[in-house]
Amino acid sequence: MSTLKNCKKCGKLFVSTGSMICSSCIEADRDLYGRITEYIAHRPNSTIFDVAEALDISVRKVLDLVNDGNLELRCKTINTEG
Ligand SMILES: [Zn+2]
Repeated sequence: MSTLKNCKKCGKLFVSTGSMICSSCIEADRDLYGRITEYIAHRPNSTIFDVAEALDISVRKVLDLVNDGNLELRCKTINTEG
């Protein structure tokens, strides 16, 4: 059953069929997810910081994707120092 929801990412009102984010955010995430997995495939020892810097996205964004899905990064715990 579909219900109206506020997208957790962009705040847009959308018709949800179970998802917490709207279709455009899902698509954007999927795209990013693909780029991250490709990056990791070539550089298996990458950390979240490496990925964020290489793809020009925030560490927070990478963490979101790691938490949302089953993205496996070598270093899942981030060190906020330095
Ligand atoms: Zn959205």
